[in-house]
Formats: sequence, C-alpha cells, structure tokens
Amino acid sequence: MNPLRSTILAAAGNERLRRLVATAPGTRAVVERFVAGEGHDQAVEAVRSLAGDGLTATLDYLGEDTTDAEQAERTVRTYVDLLDRLHDEGLAPHAEVSVKLSAIGQKLGERLTLDNAGRVCAAAERCGTTVTIDMEDHTTTDATLATVAELRRTWPWVGAVLQSYLRRTEADARALAGSRVRLCKGAYAEPESVAFAGAHEVDRSYVRAANALLAGDGYPMFATHDPRLVEILGERARWYGRKQGSYEFQMLYGIRPDEQRRLAGEGETVRVYVPFGEQWYGYLMRRLAERPANLSFFLRALASR
Ligand code: FAD
Repeated sequence: MNPLRSTILAAAGNERLRRLVATAPGTRAVVERFVAGEGHDQAVEAVRSLAGDGLTATLDYLGEDTTDAEQAERTVRTYVDLLDRLHDEGLAPHAEVSVKLSAIGQKLGERLTLDNAGRVCAAAERCGTTVTIDMEDHTTTDATLATVAELRRTWPWVGAVLQSYLRRTEADARALAGSRVRLCKGAYAEPESVAFAGAHEVDRSYVRAANALLAGDGYPMFATHDPRLVEILGERARWYGRKQGSYEFQMLYGIRPDEQRRLAGEGETVRVYVPFGEQWYGYLMRRLAERPANLSFFLRALASR
C-alpha cells in the first residue's frame, strides 16, 4: 500500500488528531462534501434529492467500533426511526440502509450483534426495503459473513459486502453468488498476508469476483468510482446476458456525482451511499486516503479559514 495512504489510514485512529481536525475552522466545508448532514432531516432530504435525479440511496449512520452497549442501542434506534421516517415520507422504495456491525455491538458479543442487526432488518422489512451489512477490516470478515448468513435465514435479501483487495474474495464471491452482494475494492489498511498490495492486482481480483457474481443468479452491487472498472462491468454484465436492473452500480455521496447521473440516464440502477451523523472522522479519513487530490482540497480548506 502506498505510504501516504497508510499514514492517513493510521491517522483515522488517532484521537488527538481527530480533536484537532474536528475543531479546525475549515473542516465543515470538507465534511459537507462527503457527509449529508448530522441528523435525520438532512439524510431524508438527501434521499429525496437523489430520488429526484433517478438515483436510489443506502443510508449509513456514521459510527464504528463501539464497546458501549448503550451507544449500540442508540445506533439501532436511529436506524429504526430513520426507516420509519423514510416509510412515512414515501421514500422507502428509494432507500435502504447500510449497517456496520462494529457500531451495533460486534465487540460486545455475537448474540447482541445478531439481535441488534435483526431489529434493523425487521424494521426494514416492515417498511418494504432492505439492509446491507458493511464490511470492515479483515479481522472481522468471518464473523461478519457468519452474521449475514444467520440474518439471511429470516431475511434472505440482507446484503453482504466483499472487498476485492482480500485474497479470499474470489472464493467468497463464488460462495455468495446467488445472493445480494456489494463488491468494492476495500478501504482499510491490510497486511499483504491477506490482501493484494498492488492496484492492478486489486482490480484484477475485482473483475474475477464480478464475473463470479454475474454468473450466479443473485443481485450484484458494483461499488466503485473507477471509470475503467465501470466500463468493464457494463461489458461483463451484457456478456452474461444480464438485463439492466438485475445488478446495480453504487458510488459514494459527493464522489463523481455527474457519473452517477450519467449512468442512471443510460438506464442503469445507481445507488448512492449516503453517510450522515456526527461521527464522520473515520469515514472522512478513509475517503482522503483514497485520493491525494482530496487531501490537498482538505488542507486548502483548512488553511483558507
Ligand atoms: P479507486 O481506485 O480508489 O478510485 C478510482 C477513481 O475513482 C479515482 O481515480 C477517482 O477518479 C475516483 N475516486 C475514488 N475515490 C475517490 C474519492 N474519495 N474522491 C474523489 N474521487 C474518487 N469499503 C469497505 O471496505 N467496506 C464497505 O462496506 C464499503 N462500502 C462501500 C460502499 C459503496 C457504495 C462504495 C462506493 C464504496 C464502499 N467502500 C467500502 C469503499 C471502497 O472499498 C473503496 O475504498 C472506494 O470505493 C474507492 O475505490 P474505487 O473502487 O472507487 O477505486
């Protein structure tokens, strides 16, 4: 992994730096580019505006790595309230939710995680929409996939996430090809023992996993902003005889918005990952690590205030 990227990812866990960034005057402008806002109102407005442009959304209530059962409970309630609100406002057909298991108790035990995730899934079912379980660092992959498998016994539509930088992912894609799977490159700092280090290897692994998913009868969700991959994925989908709507593209809020609209204009289903909430620091650092240009944008904004 390139040294700048691993330094920024290491900064994601640094509490002193977090406080420094949070109180810097230019931070808000940068955060607003990638995060819809802090509360339900802004999250719901973002869905409404995306829906107006023919895009769907998956909403992520920011927060991760909790070791506090009350915090996990607050996160679950936030998701349940949000789903009810989307339903009441007629927006549930346009939005699902994305949940990080570490935010709802993964470090507090399997039973609690499963109960909490199940409550979000039950609320989504009541509202007529779905849930995708985000994937975090490789130490959690087995536990997360096991929880997804357990949830799917009741809610078969629960989405799993695979990361093409992991060496194991092609095999996982074959195993999960009959289901809803988001495929992304992966956003964490991982050791070479488990992950490909070179960008080309990660891309090649992405295409192999995409082929496995397209060959199955599940619903692949291709999460990438990479123009080359987007083109290849469109071609592969046609080669496998996939109709538009039998798979989707996903991108992050604030990243390549014109491309999101272009793909939707061509008839593709496009879902935008919309983060909201106060705990934006770890998320922002992962976005900055992905692209040095974002880092200079960030430093310029901080310096300009
Ligand atoms: P890259 O090679 O990083 O980028 C390709 C091109 O896309 C760049 O050249 C640039 O033009 C553009 N681009 C990419 N990132 C940015 C950016 N931050 N700002 C501006 N332009 C950019 N990762 C996980 O580990 N677990 C998850 O559960 C997860 N869920 C995701 C859900 C969605 C919908 C998306 C889109 C991503 C998710 N990710 C997740 C993040 C993902 O793993 C990558 O870190 C991220 O998408 C960047 O990879 P890329 O495929 O866009 O390709």
